[in-house]
Amino acid sequence: MAELSIVWFRGDLRLDDHPALCAGVKRGAVLPLYVLEPCDAAGGWPPGGASRWWLHHSLASLSSDLERLGSPLVLRRGRALEVLEDVVGSSGATAVFWNRRYDPAGVAVDRGVKAALKARGLEVRSFRGGVLWEPWEVETKGGDPYRVFTPFHRRIIEQEREDEPLEAPAAAVAPELAVRGDALEELGLLPRLDWADGFGARWVPGEGGAREKLERFLDDSVNGYGERRDRPDVRGTSRLSPHLRHGEISPRRVRRAVRDALGGGGSAKDHRHFLREIAWREFAWHLLYHFPKTPDEPLRPEYASFPWTRDEALLEAWKRGRTGYPLVDAGMRELWATGWMHNRVRMLVASFLVKHLLQPWQEGARWFWDTLVDADLANNTLGWQWAAGCGADAAPYFRVFNPTLQARKFDPEGAYIARWVPELAGLAPGHRHAPFEAPEACLREAGVVLGETYPAPLIAHQEGRARALDAWERFRERGQG
Ligand SMILES: Cc1cc2nc3c(=O)[nH]c(=O)nc-3n(C[C@H](O)[C@H](O)[C@H](O)COP(=O)(O)OP(=O)(O)OC[C@H]3O[C@@H](n4cnc5c(N)ncnc54)[C@H](O)[C@@H]3O)c2cc1C
Repeated sequence: MAELSIVWFRGDLRLDDHPALCAGVKRGAVLPLYVLEPCDAAGGWPPGGASRWWLHHSLASLSSDLERLGSPLVLRRGRALEVLEDVVGSSGATAVFWNRRYDPAGVAVDRGVKAALKARGLEVRSFRGGVLWEPWEVETKGGDPYRVFTPFHRRIIEQEREDEPLEAPAAAVAPELAVRGDALEELGLLPRLDWADGFGARWVPGEGGAREKLERFLDDSVNGYGERRDRPDVRGTSRLSPHLRHGEISPRRVRRAVRDALGGGGSAKDHRHFLREIAWREFAWHLLYHFPKTPDEPLRPEYASFPWTRDEALLEAWKRGRTGYPLVDAGMRELWATGWMHNRVRMLVASFLVKHLLQPWQEGARWFWDTLVDADLANNTLGWQWAAGCGADAAPYFRVFNPTLQARKFDPEGAYIARWVPELAGLAPGHRHAPFEAPEACLREAGVVLGETYPAPLIAHQEGRARALDAWERFRERGQG
């Protein structure tokens, strides 16, 4: 009888470049398992609504891929250790393999599971599957974690090593005994409201969808990435983030494909720029692993007492895309409708919330967490602390984006605004960026009544900027900044 290994899938919902799966197949028969862990096992950050939608479809896709491979996926709900012990008992497995995760709650669960299963005499092995560098493999000369991206990036380039993706196994042997599983629908991952219905038109969760996104990006957009990546009105970025987040494609596979594409021509600068963004993701995981409290607390502790206010009405207007600043509102509405938002616009809406509206960055991070299909604890934490000026390598607090200038620069024709804020589409492109500055006659002609068909700004830019800087000055005077 072939030795049976359980391959525990988590944020690595793919067959390609899956070290744990390859190790299981090499050893004998495999039992692929996914465990939907209870919310309290996630350290306060259980998957949000949009991520759960994605997870549902990604599991469906993985399930059919594994079926074709020869060993179907078993889905279960419960505490990881209890489920694993139960499955070991009913299947006769003698080993459990998984790819490592690096979020604080996941690390804690995995440590406990490893110790308990080893104590039962099982072979337990974990692998690097989700990052190019384990967080502990990169350190400063003094042996500390990095807090600044540029030297981190230089270091990983310096210590580059032979590290190629593994091909997916051609076949897998299934366990001899059938093991009880839950039906996908029983996991209850889909939202009860129809909010996510539109996501399906835009996204194809699963490994096939991830590969297609990557190929399309390399064919159509990587050349010119450096120039176009800041433009929300064009398709200038890869949109791979939800696929990377759920591990439907590995960073090693992405890097290999980018390098192969460069062999076929194009600007090395653009390809390198794209790989630099992938390195930001590595940096984010490095930070989260070494500073595990940062999803909730600022990396720079003095910022814990920053005088952010809390105003439900302002927060609600921001969430619904009703701030009166068209580019901010376009981003927030794109997020709600598609589960995704362009990076440049994420930076702007985050800055607007924490500076113009003086709301705590944690409120914004929570909203993103619930509504992004790519909600990723490491990247989201890095992004929000960057915007709030309290994290690693953060934007200085005194740099306050002007939402109108940002719109003019990055959405010059106002096409992105017209798409997501259709009530402004009738305005001439120049006025879409700032309807509050448009002549009354133009507004009338376009059917725009500020305060009625579209909100007046929640706060004038200069006033919001001055208030934010004042709060920061007072904070510094108290010796805290
Ligand atoms: C406030 C804020 C919150 C964010 N929250 C998330 C989040 O929850 N999940 C998430 O994946 N990204 C987050 N980002 C980073 C970034 O906005 C997205 O990764 C990017 O927009 C995804 O689009 P793309 O795949 O087309 O990116 P591309 O430009 O094609 O980049 C390729 C990949 O590189 C990585 N990457 C790119 N930019 C960054 C970055 N600034 N930081 C870390 N990794 C990056 C992503 O994995 C991305 O998929 C956030 C940024 C901000 C400012």
